[in-house]
Amino acid sequence: MENKQTKAAPKAYPKRDALKTGCPVSRKCGGCQYQGMPYKEQLKKKQKQEETLLGKFCKVSPIIGMEQPLHYRNKVHRAFDRDRKGNIICGPYEAGTHHIVPVENCLIEDEKCQEIIYTISSMLKSFKIKTYDEDTGYGLLRHVMVRRGFQSGEIMVVLVLGSPILPSKNNFVKALRKVHPEITTIVLNINDKKTSMVLGERDIPIYGPGFIKDRLCGCTFRISPRSFYQVNPVQTETLYSEAIRFAGLTGKETVFDAYCGIGTIGLIAASHAKKVIGVELNKDAVRDARINARENHISNADFCQGDAGEFMMAMAENEQHVDVVFMDPPRLGSDKKFLSSVVRLSPERIIYISCGPQSLAADLKYLTKNQYFVEKIQPVEMFAYTSHVETVCLLSKLHADQHIEVELQMDELDLMAAESKATYEEIKDYVLEHSGLKVSSLYIAQVKEKCGIIERVNYNLLKSEIARQPKCPPEKEAAIREALEHFRMI
Ligand code: SAH
Repeated sequence: MENKQTKAAPKAYPKRDALKTGCPVSRKCGGCQYQGMPYKEQLKKKQKQEETLLGKFCKVSPIIGMEQPLHYRNKVHRAFDRDRKGNIICGPYEAGTHHIVPVENCLIEDEKCQEIIYTISSMLKSFKIKTYDEDTGYGLLRHVMVRRGFQSGEIMVVLVLGSPILPSKNNFVKALRKVHPEITTIVLNINDKKTSMVLGERDIPIYGPGFIKDRLCGCTFRISPRSFYQVNPVQTETLYSEAIRFAGLTGKETVFDAYCGIGTIGLIAASHAKKVIGVELNKDAVRDARINARENHISNADFCQGDAGEFMMAMAENEQHVDVVFMDPPRLGSDKKFLSSVVRLSPERIIYISCGPQSLAADLKYLTKNQYFVEKIQPVEMFAYTSHVETVCLLSKLHADQHIEVELQMDELDLMAAESKATYEEIKDYVLEHSGLKVSSLYIAQVKEKCGIIERVNYNLLKSEIARQPKCPPEKEAAIREALEHFRMI
């Protein structure tokens, strides 16, 4: 064993001055599309992209950039293989292939995580750990993933293996922790399938609790190997704070956190809301979310496992009441089932967090055709040196009355032929004075529509919404007609 530990002594991790040297493998790797571009320029480019895609919905606020845009990624993943000469290599895959690009010092990834992977790589030979061959299924080590808590500093190492036995497991742990005592947990993840998915379905902790904890926006979160956690925690605090601010919570709201992961947004919102319900597909993440609620002493949050669209549909069918929906789907956006159910549930506000502006634009198009308008769009930089951009967006419900006013103004402009017109306020005043009745803009619009003065009062409303609208009672209709006659509109 002594012998092994001596042999396993790692080579020093190569450090370079990132800004001076740039990345020598950026082209091959393909991960950093904006490598070589000044950071200010990158932000400008992202702002422009957001304006092009989303500007038609509402003014796009200036992107919130990073103060230190290097080495921000708290999760580092490397695939392992051998080169033609039989030397162990590790790195990310070349874009669109399974060819490994050996990377010594990635400029956007956490340096401590990279150091640890470097150490592991230099230990493999002496521990007789073979790299896995995707074609033959021979060998053991497929990938290593290291994740570091931003405020806690806790570090999780996940060794992805083709089979569940790691030779000299205890000695391996000892040797690795001797070099990196800061590692708080080591997990074997078993992936014996021919798949391009990195992680398999079984986790075996071989050191520590099998998860790490981190703090964000005042709450503590437990993160399991397969649970999603934002890769740029400094900016995540900004993103979440914006999202919570957009929600305008007063403590009375029922909040729905869709695609909730380990419950981050919902649990941060919980102290400002009456109740939080979260839904998430990944079982491990849901377990984390439930434990996170308990450990943060939050008793008004429940988390459910399932497809967000299915869950939302069931909620809409049960006519459940929701005031605010946070939705944070994967890059490809949400689906019709989810979006149509949100519209049926009709929350006052939707806060849409997206890492895919194209899919966001498509989903906003649907929502703005169905009762909502976009009030705020805030891009947040989460992925410096790449072309990706995160956006938080506030949608508010279009109330029938407000909306009809807008339509009417348009229609009235079209009706230039009408000789005399009164405003809604003038009609209301006339009706009150002459019949003592108070009438709403909606009733006036309904009567105008009946009289053929305007069209499409219900433009953009769902059938169910139309059915729920109050109908102008006959005595009010008569009073409104009298006013319309008075103003010579009919
Ligand atoms: N809001 C969380 C997670 C966002 S990432 C956070 O900020 O950390 C998107 C999440 O959606 C992932 O956790 C993923 O597992 C989950 N997801 C993907 N498809 C889903 C679906 N159909 N239904 C519910 N959750 C889904």
